[in-house]
Parts: sequence; C-alpha cells; structure tokens
Amino acid sequence: MRFDLITIFPEFFVGPLDHGILRRARETGLVEVHVQDLRVFTKDRHRTVDDRPFGGGEGMVLKPEPLFEAVESLLGASVGEASKPGAAGTKTAIVLMSAAGKLFRQETARRYAQLERIIFICGRYEGVDERVAEHLATEEISIGDFVLSGGELPAMMVVDAVTRLLPGALGNEASSQNESFSGVAHSECESLGRAGSTSHQSRVTNHSLLDFPHYTRPAEYRGWPVPEVLIGGNHAEVAKWRRAASIEKTRRNRPDLLPRE
Ligand code: SAH
Repeated sequence: MRFDLITIFPEFFVGPLDHGILRRARETGLVEVHVQDLRVFTKDRHRTVDDRPFGGGEGMVLKPEPLFEAVESLLGASVGEASKPGAAGTKTAIVLMSAAGKLFRQETARRYAQLERIIFICGRYEGVDERVAEHLATEEISIGDFVLSGGELPAMMVVDAVTRLLPGALGNEASSQNESFSGVAHSECESLGRAGSTSHQSRVTNHSLLDFPHYTRPAEYRGWPVPEVLIGGNHAEVAKWRRAASIEKTRRNRPDLLPRE
C-alpha cells in the first residue's frame, strides 16, 4: 500500500510516521509513505499556494493549480476528471481532507485497506478551491464534527487507521477483528435489541459495538478490584462477561451505535 501526503508542511509527518505499528509497517515494506511538498508545484518566486477568496470574506484559499499538478505528477498522468469513477484507477483514491467531507469511519478504513494507493490532499487556511473537490479528488473526507487548522493530522489518522488493518501490520492478527467498531453479525444484533421490541427492521443493519474494558495487574488497586470473573480462568464465562460489558459500555457511551427500538 502506498500513501502520498500532499502538504505545505512536509516536516509535520516526521514524528507520527516513526513510531509503533506505522514505523514497523514502513520498515517491513508493508506500506510506503511519500510526503509531497506542495510548494514544489508553484511557479512564482514566492512559491504561492494560496489566494484571496472570490466573493470576499476572511482568510485565504489553497489555489487549484499546484494541487492538480502535484496529483498529476504523482500519478504520472493527467487527471482530467479524476472524480469520475475509474479515472485514477479503481485501486487508487485521491482523498481531500475536509471538515465538510463525508465522515470517516471504521468501515471507511476497511474499504481503504483494499486499495493499492491513497493520495491525501491536506488543506490549510480557509480550505481548498472547490474545483479540487469537484474534479480532482475521488472523495472528500472528514474525521469528525470539529474544525482543525489543517488536513495533516486528519490524513495521518486515516493512514494510521488503514495501516493497522493491513494483514501483517499488527503482531496478533486477531486484534483488529475484536475491537471497537469491528461489527457484529446480524443474528447477534437481534439480542441487542431492547427487550419487548417488536421492530425487526431496525435490527437488520450491521451494528458495531465498542471494545470491552481491559484490566491488568494489580488485581486490586486503591481498593478497586478487577472483576472477579476475569481472574477465575473460565474462558466461557470471561467471553460472556466481555460481551455483556461491551454492550453495556456501548449503551452508556455510544447508544447511537445500538439498534433502535
Ligand atoms: N473553512 C473550513 C475549515 C478549514 S480548516 C470549514 O469551515 O469547513 C483548514 C483545513 O483543515 C481544511 O481544508 C481541511 O483540510 C482540514 N480540516 C479541518 N477540519 C477537518 C476535519 N474535521 N476533517 C478533515 N480535515 C479537516
């Protein structure tokens, strides 16, 4: 898998790419990360990447020309209309990071993990000329309902979430199958519906749960004991407890993930 990060702050990525799972994935060749300085594709003496907004208003907007040229140079081809399906190849996504984009979720990460290449466009200032979203990017993605000052951190989060799903990235294969948002089978969903609910419709979609709580030693800390069932060594009981705790935690922190009544 290859990631390209187009940015006006190439040094930004030095830290985040150099630790833990991402570092190992790069070292073993599982992923290749290329950071592309956007200013390379400017033509004026001041290496200008931004300009004032048409229509007036605050702030500056990233110009389209350097962004189109950066992507075309990375692809080695002119994109014409990359947003049309298949123009950049079905295994390549050109992702514009944007607070106004579609929400990035674990299922998005799973879909991206099937690709061969993702080119990220990191916005800055007031954002990016809309023609980039319309005619260059294949997707416009937000990492949550809040506004950050640049697309670098959001892109980095997507790189991280996708990399850990690639076969071989985690030490233990099972660990990415059994975590928050990993989804539960339809039949299991039925049991998540509130007692007495008669609506079948709402239970048919694929819901996901949050991870169950984890504990390690000491078995008692400041008077707070670890749930006894986890210490007993009865695997079936442990599995049952974890499942119930997972549902309870989801109900408490993210009731929106559970089937509605
Ligand atoms: N004016 C824009 C915000 C611009 S913030 C708006 O109101 O929507 C500058 C850049 O930060 C954006 O171009 C985008 O690349 C990035 N960014 C900010 N918040 C983001 C989010 N929640 N998800 C993804 N990218 C984000």
